[in-house]
Amino acid sequence: MALFEKVLIANRGEIALRIQWACRELGIKTVVVHSTADTEAKYVRLADESVCIGPPASKESYLNVPAIIAAAEVTDAEAIHPGYGFLAENADFAERVEQSGFRFIGPTPDVIRLMGDKVSAKKAMRAAGVPCVPGSEGALPDDPKEIVRTARAVGYPVIIKAAGGGGGRGMRVVHTEAALVNAVNTTRAEAAAAFSNPEVYLEKFLENPRHIEFQILADHYGNVVHLGERDCSMQRRHQKVLEEAPAPGIALRLRDKIGQRCADACKKMGYRGAGTIEFLYENGEFYFIEMNTRIQVEHPVTEMITGIDIVQQQIRIASGEKLSFRQKDIAFRGHAMECRINAEDPFLFTPSPGRILSWHAPGGPGIRVDSHAYANYTVPPFYDSMIGKIISFGDTRAQAMARMEIALSEMVVEGILTTVPLHRRIMRDSHFQDGGTSIHYLESMLEREPKL
Ligand code: ADP
Repeated sequence: MALFEKVLIANRGEIALRIQWACRELGIKTVVVHSTADTEAKYVRLADESVCIGPPASKESYLNVPAIIAAAEVTDAEAIHPGYGFLAENADFAERVEQSGFRFIGPTPDVIRLMGDKVSAKKAMRAAGVPCVPGSEGALPDDPKEIVRTARAVGYPVIIKAAGGGGGRGMRVVHTEAALVNAVNTTRAEAAAAFSNPEVYLEKFLENPRHIEFQILADHYGNVVHLGERDCSMQRRHQKVLEEAPAPGIALRLRDKIGQRCADACKKMGYRGAGTIEFLYENGEFYFIEMNTRIQVEHPVTEMITGIDIVQQQIRIASGEKLSFRQKDIAFRGHAMECRINAEDPFLFTPSPGRILSWHAPGGPGIRVDSHAYANYTVPPFYDSMIGKIISFGDTRAQAMARMEIALSEMVVEGILTTVPLHRRIMRDSHFQDGGTSIHYLESMLEREPKL
């Protein structure tokens, strides 16, 4: 079966470049759409074609569905890759793409919708045998007595979450029964305003979990594999800062068991493409929290330890190819880490856009840099602050860490502030070096030593 001749990339920054790398290697031509803020970016020039689709504001460019469809029409693209963020998990967009006669590089609109609603996602996962956080059966009812009863059965503390929530928003932790009903009502009102969906549900609040997620690949023919797990517990304000694979200290048998459950669940729901099933992990148990139906920022760590190019697989699958490997063919080797480099003050975390005066990316054995930045590139103030990722690979975690430390010490960015110094601190931290820290660790480290 022939792969696509031309793919349109409906995204910007490092992932727009990453998708181009995948396409070029597969002999596929690329079209990049961009806002007026990104016209001069090198990755826009590197694409075979580019189309300006609007002014800087995302709403009028990267979220402008008619403009993106029109760009695909005038350039004769066959498929659209949404990357991450922007329209990547927008079921209506996926539908519009397919209705306009293009292939959406991702799962079907129905599956995106199912997983986009956290209540229906949790129901589907539980039904498929994936372990979930104990909590309410579906959405909470209006009856306060019923809500109180549910929370009592689960046990405090509990967390109230919006069915339509995302990006760390629409959640509230409740420690006492006295605060419960009020918290549910407030979260409901916020959810109605923010996500146009007042549905909320309740779960046990896990006090000190790790964030561990499984990468899935599924084709159109019911073949599903998992590519193991990633540990993304280093977070600040629910935003991932550093990721690694495999997750330190997780027994291989447990990984295989949960990975297989994830693959089975995807098979059951007719999933196709790449996807990530996210869990909280505490006291040896995994608890499903949500599924992301797209490529993730941290996909490279999995690529490093499996040798599988996940973006190329997304494209192959969307074009109708069968997966060319089975679960038993997937071999995990070594250890990989990824540091997200953000254009931010490394202590205050305020954005630091502007012109990069000098840029020296590290190299050497086991180092990969995924970035669209370069000297003289201007980081626009309108978008996410991530300007690249340093990925390290080693035979062991210690080697991956040592290589990362060297890479970070070689990385030079002048003109703007970046989070490189933050990552250097993390590399020197003895608890991080031991591995297996919880999702609260980074924030407690920053509180302990706000400026070091
Ligand atoms: P979002 O889609 O907004 O990212 P998630 O359901 O993935 O929402 O949750 C985001 C973060 O909130 C998790 O990574 C975790 O830090 C915290 N969280 C969510 N559910 C729970 C829970 N039951 N117990 C403890 N923390 C939770």
